[in-house]
Amino acid sequence: MMSAKTLVNVNITQQSASTVHNTMTSLLETKEIFCRADAVCFDVDSTVIKEEGIDELAKFCGVGDVVAAMTRKAMGGSMSFKTALTERLAIIRPSREQVNKLITDHPPQLTEGVEELVDRLQQRKVQVFLISGGFRCIVEHVAMRLNIPLSNVFANRLKFYFNGEYAGFDETQMTAETGGKGRVIRHLKEQFGFKKMVMIGDGATDLEACPPADAFIGFGGNVIRQQVQEKAAWYITSFNELLKELEK
Ligand SMILES: [Mg+2]
Repeated sequence: MMSAKTLVNVNITQQSASTVHNTMTSLLETKEIFCRADAVCFDVDSTVIKEEGIDELAKFCGVGDVVAAMTRKAMGGSMSFKTALTERLAIIRPSREQVNKLITDHPPQLTEGVEELVDRLQQRKVQVFLISGGFRCIVEHVAMRLNIPLSNVFANRLKFYFNGEYAGFDETQMTAETGGKGRVIRHLKEQFGFKKMVMIGDGATDLEACPPADAFIGFGGNVIRQQVQEKAAWYITSFNELLKELEK
């Protein structure tokens, strides 16, 4: 049986072959889909917020350098998402108290323009979702600041023992798997019947979620990932570009 990972790679290869000839068309199409979308999904780390949540947590727990190196390796990656997450968490072993203290002492920094953009989309009756390979406790905090309902948050769940010690993570969440973001989007389409869904993000896992997303917008406002920049039909470095497009 072909693994989810193999399927994802096939999609990317097909996409890169076609973007060479269709860049202009896909740019216009992507803009049109964005303006007509009934749901817009944002990646969180390095997209909605300026930092990578897991790296911040690692730094806070005193293992920043080791984990940052592992994150870079995982992103370049042949390792499955779940394995990469398991390995990094085994080193961080964050307690409930450490996670709470991280959120209070170093709340995630929102990227410029994201509050206005989410507001504008919601005024237009567009459903806004946060889909993250990061941790629900941190992403929920971000969602509350953006007035996004917590039911529109998809992320991984850390588990703790009664005494607050690290007890692993919920491996059954869709976001715990390679290709998880695409799986969430497919699930949302089935559940709510969305016709046009857009995925916005900085990373390869965001790009891979299209399809099933109808369009992908690459975001390089915090970090530019070359392969994403090359493959995205529409690549932006500021959320103002999206606000401007909605004003047209
Ligand atoms: Mg990201």
